[in-house]
Amino acid sequence: MPILLGLFFFISGASIASFLCNLSTRLSKNEQVSRGRSHCDHCGKNLSWYELIPIISYLFLRGRCHSCRKKIDVSYTLTECILGILFALSGLVWHQSIYATLPEPQAWLMLAFWLVNASLFTLISYHDYRHFLILDRFVAAGTILNLVLLALLYQIQMLTYIAAGGLNALFIGLIVLATKGKGMGEGDIKLAFLIGLVTGFPHNFTALFLGFVSGACIGVILIISKKKTSKDIIPFGPFLSFGAVTTLLFGEQILAWYLRSFIIF
Ligand SMILES: [Zn+2]
Repeated sequence: MPILLGLFFFISGASIASFLCNLSTRLSKNEQVSRGRSHCDHCGKNLSWYELIPIISYLFLRGRCHSCRKKIDVSYTLTECILGILFALSGLVWHQSIYATLPEPQAWLMLAFWLVNASLFTLISYHDYRHFLILDRFVAAGTILNLVLLALLYQIQMLTYIAAGGLNALFIGLIVLATKGKGMGEGDIKLAFLIGLVTGFPHNFTALFLGFVSGACIGVILIISKKKTSKDIIPFGPFLSFGAVTTLLFGEQILAWYLRSFIIF
């Protein structure tokens, strides 16, 4: 049963990721989102139905376009895998810990809240990775959607979530001021607000902490392996987003582990 449930969520996540990557690419080229078939980035040939199946089509075509044989960008397929895994994890954790404990409407709302945010942060990260830009309209739409979900989930208590967002924005804002905008910018401040909003106090700090630690680790690895130099811009959105989705699913465990290991000996 858990395997089937995980598989169902994985396929749903991978399919949604396929749509989100397409949305990001079209927005970056100012193409209309609803018009036209998906096509190859190199030769412009419309893709047939079997070239649109997430992950499988990439493996089937061995990573190359069917007509021009040029390489298909692997970040597309990786994003489908990542959101597939996030959906599967969300579904399994939800089934194990939330479904049995929360009353009916609340439990389903929590699942929606997790899946919406897994999709949202994947979209923001993919766009930032490809185009070095955290799009305001993604963050704004995500903020509005989350305000509605939080109001339904927590009613008046949602104010503490807004305050946690404010704390995060203040924290990143001070870093931007201190570093005069080198490395992090205005987009990161808005994203930090969104992350605090969805994770709430004290997990807003857990999420930022994970974002900084993962960013520093990958940054050092990229510099040591000479893939980047310390002067290159490394988009920070994906790391902040990683912190957010990990905290949403496992925040309690991570915070408990951290306090046990480093604060109370
Ligand atoms: Zn092609």
